[in-house]
Amino acid sequence: MTEAMQQGGSYMYRTIRSPAVPAAAAALTVAIFSVDALTSLDVAIAVLYVAVVLMSVWIWPRRGVIGVMLFCMALTLLAFVLSHDVLRDDAALARCLVSLAAIAITGFLAVKGQEATQALLQREEALNQARNQLAHASRVSTLGEMTATIAHEVNQPLAAILTHGQAGLRWLDRDQPELGEVRRAVDAMQQNARRASEVIQRIRGMARQSAPSMVPLAPAALVQESCDLLRRELHRLRVKLKLELAADLPLVMADKVQLQQVVINLVMNAAQAMSEAMTVAPTIEVRCSLVPAGEAQEGAAMIQVEVADNGPGLSQEHMERMFSAFFTTKKEGMGMGLAICRSILEAHHGSIRAGNRAPQGAVMRVLLPPVTGGTS
Ligand code: ADP
Repeated sequence: MTEAMQQGGSYMYRTIRSPAVPAAAAALTVAIFSVDALTSLDVAIAVLYVAVVLMSVWIWPRRGVIGVMLFCMALTLLAFVLSHDVLRDDAALARCLVSLAAIAITGFLAVKGQEATQALLQREEALNQARNQLAHASRVSTLGEMTATIAHEVNQPLAAILTHGQAGLRWLDRDQPELGEVRRAVDAMQQNARRASEVIQRIRGMARQSAPSMVPLAPAALVQESCDLLRRELHRLRVKLKLELAADLPLVMADKVQLQQVVINLVMNAAQAMSEAMTVAPTIEVRCSLVPAGEAQEGAAMIQVEVADNGPGLSQEHMERMFSAFFTTKKEGMGMGLAICRSILEAHHGSIRAGNRAPQGAVMRVLLPPVTGGTS
């Protein structure tokens, strides 16, 4: 019968505004009083005032209910005084006292019940507010992650385009322009521009909730292509790249752009870690192989892509936190790369693990299930 209503930030009862209830309560009061005061019935008619007290809960807040209770008690006393011999009629006095007790107890319980309902309504409202705040916070954080993802994924090819453009200009500015090198730089710029546009298309697809385009792919060729995109950047960072790609590997069901993203992230992370730590003779080894069913923890044969470096390696703390969004140790890092890698691989029913290698360096291991029956 009552509802919560916000008034200046606080919540209180909305009592029934219809005049029917107060009118009924008033009529009942008049009727009880008339019968009680004007007739000589030997019944505790004043007990019926409890109905008036209960009706008042729908009409007024706490103070009003207490007022009605006191008013009903006063009417009971008045009727008793008017209709009985106060000093001699013990039975009537007892009925009067029973009625007063009934009205007082009902009033007390009604007020307590009203308070309890109000507390419940306030708690429910606080819960609603907390739920709304949570929904807002999660919308903001999704938006933040989305923005960080876009920035992270598009930044890589754009930075590469810039590097290739600068290199191309340098070759052109020579006394004897090296047109072959310029052509290579422009080719690389084209490839990276295409990549950036594919990434954007993929993100637009994600925003539209379209499923990634899964096709059977040759894992070794995919790793090779991804590394080709990074050659110049690795050269700039003076990092040596060694590829060990097993032949005739089974195909994997994958979204090409997303898997390229994973390989590029892992290789660039390795290169940046070594460059920051000023590793002597920085080298990245990328291996693509088949882990036989007997050796794979998954209990089935898996395609493994390993990216190993001879950089500073990973502390226990970094290993635990590096896949969490926004964890970074780089001055200009966003900490989204590995979080994205992991979610991409999970969508491919694969996994990623990080570890250290002897004598030094980190190794990232990606596992993907092969397509049964197809080989590259
Ligand atoms: P970001 O590259 O923006 O820092 P990532 O999620 O790709 O975000 O990486 C998170 C962190 O993991 C890096 O800041 C770095 O501390 C650590 N990390 C990743 N790869 C390596 C690696 N090969 N060697 C050492 N640390 C690494």
